[in-house]
Amino acid sequence: MVIPVTTELDVKHKGIVVMGGTFNPIHHGHLRTAVDILDRFAFNELRLIPCFQPVHKDALQVKPFERLHMVELACRADPRLKVDRREIERQGPSYTIDTLAELRQEVGQTTPIVLTVGMDSFLSLTTWKRWAELVQFAHILVVSRPGWEPELPSKLEDFYEKRRANDVTELQSAPSGKIWQTSLTPLAISSSMIRKLCAQQQSIAYLLPENVREFILDHQLYQKG
Ligand code: ATP
Ligand code: MG
Repeated sequence: MVIPVTTELDVKHKGIVVMGGTFNPIHHGHLRTAVDILDRFAFNELRLIPCFQPVHKDALQVKPFERLHMVELACRADPRLKVDRREIERQGPSYTIDTLAELRQEVGQTTPIVLTVGMDSFLSLTTWKRWAELVQFAHILVVSRPGWEPELPSKLEDFYEKRRANDVTELQSAPSGKIWQTSLTPLAISSSMIRKLCAQQQSIAYLLPENVREFILDHQLYQKG
């Protein structure tokens, strides 16, 4: 019997990465993180998932389809970046646990799913719906973010220590359950900074893709603070 060295299944097992966000608007902090993950680690695909209604933020001035459109414009520059519209189409409050449960159904029980979050989001994890169950569906990849120190509240610290991975390969050899912290290209860019600059009629050039900047100016988004 001939046993192939690399099967299609092995490749599939490297898994998919998901990056959820409000993307209000998408910027180079999100995009550089996504590209770094694709270039440095051998995952099969990376999906950006704009939320319909963020659970922990006030009502937004910009409509969900406008935020989605900006994500689509940004992803045109790299065909490896996929836009997943499920939260926008599902409508209502966007809970990550629901999205991960759906994805798990779709990809089957063995393919790794990796949820990427910035350090700021990870620090608030215990406020998310059914937060402790997230790792039943996916791994968590925590990316450092300038201005956010890894000072975890004790409940989160215990949770992290029990599931801590030392290397990315641990996320690729099991379907879910591990948490790995890493540092990629540190960029101190945030959507709130971009909204603030727009409201003050200052330039947002070089913080986000040029086609997204043009869309913001053409549609006069973020004019009011
Ligand atoms: P806001 O300022 O409105 O909160 P944001 O810039 O934090 O927006 P989000 O859409 O809230 O953007 O973030 C989506 C995800 O991307 C989160 O997990 C967040 O931690 C991460 N992220 C955002 N900006 C960066 C960045 N500059 N570096 C690394 N991760 C980031
Ligand atoms: Mg944020």
